Amino acid sequence: MDNCIFCKIVSGAIPAKRIYEDDELLAFHDVSPQAPVHFLVIPRRHIRNIMELAPEDVALVGHLLHKAQELAAKLGCAEKGARFVINCKSDGGQTVDHLHIHVLGGRPLAWPPG
Ligand code: 5GP
Ligand code: ZN
Repeated sequence: MDNCIFCKIVSGAIPAKRIYEDDELLAFHDVSPQAPVHFLVIPRRHIRNIMELAPEDVALVGHLLHKAQELAAKLGCAEKGARFVINCKSDGGQTVDHLHIHVLGGRPLAWPPG
């Protein structure tokens, strides 16, 4: 997608602090961290949001979640945990229309969200 900021991160047109990448996904630190650990896991392919997932994306979603878990543990969140968040569209507070999982950790997080 031409003017998608996360597609530009995937292609390397925009720099990001990359944590991990493979054929299907990319993980990088959020530019505006809301916790000591705050990174995003995204599919390389442009999927706008979780509402647009198709049945054939089920394996990809499993891969995204499993990698999010693995990297959260690697970054020190195994013992105390973390928050794994997918915002969707306007009511969900999504600001970048390319599916992404937020992983936030390193401090206690309040619930429910405002
Ligand atoms: P959303 O609000 O869509 O769930 O989350 C989008 C996230 O992407 C925000 O936390 C925001 O800080 C992050 N973000 C937006 N632009 C960039 C960027 O250019 N680089 C990185 N690393 N993160 C970004
Ligand atoms: Zn995109």
